[in-house]
Amino acid sequence: MNFYVLTLFPQMLEDGMRVSVIGRALEKGLITLTAINIRDFARNKHGKVDDYPYGGGAGMVMQPGPVYDAYLHAVKLIEERRKEQNLKPLSKKPRVIYLTPQGSVFKQKMAQDFSYEEDLIFLCGHYEGIDERVLEMIVTDNISIGDYVLTGGEMPAMVLMDAISRLVPGVLNNDISAETESFTEDLLEYPQYTRPVVFMDKEVPEVLLSGHHGKVDRWRQEQSLKRTMERRPDLLEKKK
Ligand code: SAM
Repeated sequence: MNFYVLTLFPQMLEDGMRVSVIGRALEKGLITLTAINIRDFARNKHGKVDDYPYGGGAGMVMQPGPVYDAYLHAVKLIEERRKEQNLKPLSKKPRVIYLTPQGSVFKQKMAQDFSYEEDLIFLCGHYEGIDERVLEMIVTDNISIGDYVLTGGEMPAMVLMDAISRLVPGVLNNDISAETESFTEDLLEYPQYTRPVVFMDKEVPEVLLSGHHGKVDRWRQEQSLKRTMERRPDLLEKKK
């Protein structure tokens, strides 16, 4: 899985992604991350990539030209990599995900869908957003991480890349854990416990110490259902 991120703040992605499980996946080459600085494609010597909105109003809007050129650069990098790896040239345009509060709200099933792609381009907006014309030209998926407004698309891009990377074979030590996690079957996961057996007078449920796999599985299924009913009954409605 190869991620290309078009951003004004590449350092945020470098700092945020090169740690823990995802950091190790990057080191092992299971995933790659290329942050492309949109400012490098500014069409003036001051590196300015935003301007006032036509029609007036507060804030600045990112101009279409530098965003388009950064996108072309990402496509060129993808083509070069394919050539190096003796793969066929791209048969269709790569998916371009624009992180926007106006998009469909991100769900685990979308992470699954994106994880089947070989290359993904993420477009991070800033300020008041990006000129609509370039969005119409290059974006294939508009995705939001929730009904609130952030200052930029970098954190949402990291949220998506994290969720997608966990589904890439080999990224998690134990592939089973991604299969049983919350949302996979529209259910929340059962509660988890580890040592010690007793913590401040609270004991680990006895069944988990029994060594009886059938009983443990049944208990986990019951707990998963109970937890979903208590915390996210809307997920159960969807299953009907
Ligand atoms: N003016 C825009 C609007 O009202 O829809 C909001 C722009 S926001 C301040 C700047 C950038 O942050 C957006 O272009 C987008 O990339 C990112 N962003 C903000 N909230 C987001 C969210 N909930 N999900 C995904 N991206 C978000």
